[in-house]
Amino acid sequence: MNKITRNVVACLIGFAIISCTKVPITGRKQLKLLPDSMMAEMGQTNYAAFLKENPAVSPPTRQSAEVTAVGLRISKAVEKYMKDNNLSQKIAGYKWEFNVVDSKEVNAWCMPGGKVVVYTGILPLTKDDAGLAVVMGHEIAHAIADHGNERMSQELAVQAAGIGLQVFMQTKPQATQDIFMSSFGVGSQLGILAYSRQHELEADKLGLVFMAMAGYNPERAVSFWQEMSKMGGNKPPEIMSTHPSDERRIAQIQAFLPEAKKYFIAYTPETGTKSNTGTTTQPKTTTTPSKTTTPAKTTTPVKK
Ligand SMILES: [Zn+2]
Repeated sequence: MNKITRNVVACLIGFAIISCTKVPITGRKQLKLLPDSMMAEMGQTNYAAFLKENPAVSPPTRQSAEVTAVGLRISKAVEKYMKDNNLSQKIAGYKWEFNVVDSKEVNAWCMPGGKVVVYTGILPLTKDDAGLAVVMGHEIAHAIADHGNERMSQELAVQAAGIGLQVFMQTKPQATQDIFMSSFGVGSQLGILAYSRQHELEADKLGLVFMAMAGYNPERAVSFWQEMSKMGGNKPPEIMSTHPSDERRIAQIQAFLPEAKKYFIAYTPETGTKSNTGTTTQPKTTTTPSKTTTPAKTTTPVKK
């Protein structure tokens, strides 16, 4: 962490320009204080530290293999989208990793750099690959849209007010790390940084597009969120954040489905996936039954 903090500080000293970029797909303008490369580096280090404390399911199980397969399909689709739109630079530091962690927590997250964790607690709700794609598409969308960077920038601006960003990070490495972790919905040590409603709705939209590009039917998101809305509890996890309300979220998803489906047609993974059932990783090879060739009629000469 000290090394990271030093890097952050070193970078920020020469980083007087606040970067104003646009979120892919939605085109929303956003303000970020931290460079993407730094966020990816922090993601990599904190991901490794998290997995050291919370070891991934090993050896791989059927479920973890499914998580990896769905994650790879979505990541390939995302990379293709970024390449096609001259945005590859934005994910240049990404080294995708997908791990399942044994926990009752109904949660999943993705740190910048493409570092994904899915908790076993959410798997009974995702049920199938398309359900998993809803969750992973949503979490990957938070990373691609740099929501963590925005949140971290806002929080640092508040906490470091008065003493300055560099001094804050230098003197409070633990607080800096806590802000990073909670910016991605990891742990509940602070619980001060719920994703905003705007971020949630945006991640839903991008998530639908990403799952569609990977060949999963985005309609699956509706039934998934309906199922999630049945879950109550006084402390909802990130994935089912209280805002937006379930009704609003589902209504927006339904309204956005026609747009998301356009991407489904435009993008199919290079694996040859053409499935639009949204239910299986391996596309059903639609074995078009060879036409039952109508036997040539034995033309019995018509007597006149
Ligand atoms: Zn979210």
